[in-house]
Amino acid sequence: MTSPPVLGGAGALPHRRGDPTASRAALYAECRELRADVAAASRFLVAGAGALGSEALKCLALMGAGLLVVVDPDRVEERNLARSVLYGPDDVGVPKVSAATARLAAWSPEGRVLPVVGDVRYDVGLGVLRRVDAVIGCLDGRASRLGLGRRCASADVPWVDGAIGERIARIAAFWPRRGGCYECTLTPAQWEEISAEGPPGCGAAQRGAREAGRVPTTPLAASVAGALLVSEALKIAHARRPGSGLPAPEPDWGLERYLVMAAGRWVDTRYSPEPHCGSHGGPWEVHEEPGLGVADPLAAAADRASALLGAEVAAWDVGHELVVSARCRRCDAADRPLVAEGAPAMRRSCPRCASPREVRTARYVAVGSRLARRPMWDLGIPPLDVLRFRAADGRAVAVELTGDLSRFPALLAEPLPPLPEIRPGSGRGRTAP
Ligand SMILES: [Zn+2]
Ligand SMILES: [Zn+2]
Repeated sequence: MTSPPVLGGAGALPHRRGDPTASRAALYAECRELRADVAAASRFLVAGAGALGSEALKCLALMGAGLLVVVDPDRVEERNLARSVLYGPDDVGVPKVSAATARLAAWSPEGRVLPVVGDVRYDVGLGVLRRVDAVIGCLDGRASRLGLGRRCASADVPWVDGAIGERIARIAAFWPRRGGCYECTLTPAQWEEISAEGPPGCGAAQRGAREAGRVPTTPLAASVAGALLVSEALKIAHARRPGSGLPAPEPDWGLERYLVMAAGRWVDTRYSPEPHCGSHGGPWEVHEEPGLGVADPLAAAADRASALLGAEVAAWDVGHELVVSARCRRCDAADRPLVAEGAPAMRRSCPRCASPREVRTARYVAVGSRLARRPMWDLGIPPLDVLRFRAADGRAVAVELTGDLSRFPALLAEPLPPLPEIRPGSGRGRTAP
């Protein structure tokens, strides 16, 4: 299946053979709909500030996006300089998000940038995700994408996912309410790859190309994919603001598109929601709690959850595996990391003797346990997160640490227009299963 890369689909265009000026004018008319006021009010979260993320951020800044939350755990390395438009030699050793913030501010003085050094799966509160128009995934590897997709599903925020290969650009738009999600696209072999962890980024492809005497093509694919991602993200921002005039306001949810640059060909695959996929059960009703923040003990959030549910909640549903203890197999040194098992901060080897450590994880934390008396940030909970608590009878309730909102730029506190399909009372009020 191939089709030209045209907003609104190929069928929408009057294409007159032999009159290139007329067909070009029709093309431009379809692309004229992005509005400066919508761009200025828009907020996006960009996950990953590598080669692809840099291109997406560049486009967003130049298009006048209002607020960019930029999330990446890494520092700029020498090898990034040849691939990324955002970084210069002075940035080597600096966190990517800090270097990116400085560069983006120069390009877009009106735009705000909120840098987060961390992993988007664990270090960004769901309350941040649910307050952006869309999330733009510029990540390496399937495990990160799967994690991001699940976070976006929990926050009920649409996301566009990008990937690059040797002169291949891939984009897809996911919103579990409206089509297949990233998780739905995974084959059994890809699930195996995820459990094995550590798939190579574009670095390996680059090295392979150099060794074979070819020119690494990451900049080409990143540039194309970055621009396409931003175009899709801007569609979402316009779809949220009725009357903003875009003729085909929504992305094609669940459609994955590969642009094979060498062949000049588009390859499309559409995904429908898989019955076994856990990302389509929401959205849950989120209770915004201005009296709660990450500095409060977990027990305080649990008390509020019990009051909301009208029954004692029993446990906090962490949403991932939390490492509650790690013990060295050789020297027996032990600590309580209290970070997600897959988080970059998790040390799998002993800090004293570098031997592998035995880890114990928990998916639920009992609200009566000693851990529940600790401040929530001690448990790896990021500011403005949404916590789910479960009662013994299986009912659940979700509370947001809305008190943390003061830590974020003012634009994030302004109400976000919902997507057209999300009307009050049409599903938003459902309680978590
Ligand atoms: Zn799915
Ligand atoms: Zn040790």
